[in-house]
Amino acid sequence: MSKVYDVLIIGGGPAGLTAGLYAGRAKLDTIILEAEKPGGQIVITDEVENYPGAVEDPTGPRLVQRMVEQFKGFGGELVMEKVESFDFDSKIKVVKTNKNEYQAKAVIIASGASPRKLDAKGEEDYVGKGVSFCATCDAAFFEGLEVYVIGGGDTAVEEAVFISKFARKVTIVHRRDELRAAKSIQEKAFANEKIDFIWDSVVEEVAGDGLVEEMTLLNRKTGEKTVVKADEDDGTFGIFVMVGYIPKTDIFKGVVEMDEAGYILGDENMKTNKEGIFVAGDCRQKPLRQVVTATADGAIASISAEKYIEDAFEH
Ligand code: NAP
Repeated sequence: MSKVYDVLIIGGGPAGLTAGLYAGRAKLDTIILEAEKPGGQIVITDEVENYPGAVEDPTGPRLVQRMVEQFKGFGGELVMEKVESFDFDSKIKVVKTNKNEYQAKAVIIASGASPRKLDAKGEEDYVGKGVSFCATCDAAFFEGLEVYVIGGGDTAVEEAVFISKFARKVTIVHRRDELRAAKSIQEKAFANEKIDFIWDSVVEEVAGDGLVEEMTLLNRKTGEKTVVKADEDDGTFGIFVMVGYIPKTDIFKGVVEMDEAGYILGDENMKTNKEGIFVAGDCRQKPLRQVVTATADGAIASISAEKYIEDAFEH
């Protein structure tokens, strides 16, 4: 407990790892606390096509592996512990995990976001039994089967194309009659013979006997309900829920300023309203959430934290 780190980073995704890399290079004593496994959302991405330089073997897990090695190469510590409480009011910040208590001069919150659920009846019960939130993790389980991808954003449409490499048929179910995904991504899906669309529809219920066997869809325009049933020979089908993300910021509520959706407000230097507390990555309110913007946030947050430490502790 006696050690005081310079920078403590909450979250080991691209934002946190980049913040750590910059802090390490600046010879700041740096620790990252990660609750699950390093990488955040990007670990569940099969191919990262739009991160500059990620051309050779650009899978999410590989990219993260290299980021972790680079961060550790500059002397940073990466600890797999879940943050449970903290005291950000004192000059030396205190962060408690499920195992330890840490002290630091500055904290960077890079806690990321997690997949949003549909809140459809039965959805929770069938996670891992046909319902999935991660195409990279689970697409291979649906080799030769039918799959429904719920959502109309970049993730849903891009992952539908990926899943079509395994599944016999992929149907994108979207709640409107127009996709949100970027045109370039849409084109790939429209050109893919295995991909079909159900428009204006939402999932009401998922059911089955052990595995997913049927799904009730509600057409929001006509009010009509349709029950999608598993092909008799297959006995089951897949439902990939890809309807966006929610920020993992619950424990910071009432402590740092947030918007209504729970995204933390930071200025252009990644400063929050709380002295010595910075924010980076997907948990921050911003217009574009990508690896490239997460890493940029991390770099800025780290430099801001460095300046803050200089001003607050060394003058
Ligand atoms: P998103 O852009 O927020 O899209 C979520 C989609 O799910 C929307 O089509 C939305 O419908 C739908 N939706 C939301 N709640 C729903 C519900 N309860 N029931 C049914 N449908 C629901 O999320 P995302 O696609 O995961 O993307 C997140 C961010 O990552 C975006 O900034 C995206 O650009 C970025 N991303 C980029 C790439 C890339 O550039 N290659 C790849 C993946 C993700 P509406 O359209 O009607 O709102």
